[in-house]
Amino acid sequence: MIVPGNLFILSAPSGAGKSSLINALLRSDNQASARAMQVSISHTTRDARPGENNGEHYHFVSVAEFKKQISLNAFYEYAEVFGNYYGTSEAAIDAQLSQGIDVFLDIDWQGAQQVRMKKPGVTTIFISPPSKEELESRLRGRGQDSDEIIASRMAQAQAECSHYNEFDYVIVNDDFDQALLDLTTIVNNQRLKCRQQSIAQQSLFSKLLNIEAVEPTE
Ligand code: 5GP
Repeated sequence: MIVPGNLFILSAPSGAGKSSLINALLRSDNQASARAMQVSISHTTRDARPGENNGEHYHFVSVAEFKKQISLNAFYEYAEVFGNYYGTSEAAIDAQLSQGIDVFLDIDWQGAQQVRMKKPGVTTIFISPPSKEELESRLRGRGQDSDEIIASRMAQAQAECSHYNEFDYVIVNDDFDQALLDLTTIVNNQRLKCRQQSIAQQSLFSKLLNIEAVEPTE
């Protein structure tokens, strides 16, 4: 019997280091664990950035296509973020979970609120930067954006952070290795729950519990 996968949500303001943490987790986890883990590929109406591929980083679709998917109830959740639509396909996630794959949703607080309503068992994690100054310096460190854009990203970050206390777990990404350890601990905690282990360790427990059926020796 397949142990159904766990669903995780990871939200953070841009610059908190969320993508690096997810990538590091996937690299280490898929080597060390018998369980597979995947990051869900969202649909978005924003343009692809250099280096991004359709079907790998996002499914890049037109606004008309996105609205059609909304009308077909194809999304677990969707939201408008920074003027573009983003959404998570319900069928894709359910297929992965039923194959026993742990699925990670990299979505904003609005999406997290919607998934929480539909999937009460979801584990939600908020990644926080260690300080406002560090966040600003990380955003500036990318060297891509004007002062105006940095100011608007800082305002958006503050809006995202204002929802931190709706999440099950909060990780402060000050030291990267510690933050990765924290994230791994949360994932393992979920996998070791009795509900999961009773299916994963079914054969062990049926043998252990059959001890009484063994003929007693005199
Ligand atoms: P970016 O355009 O930089 O890749 O992502 C912008 C924001 O959109 C990030 O906060 C990201 O977590 C969020 N996002 C990405 N995919 C989804 C999605 O499917 N649903 C929601 N609600 N937010 C998403």
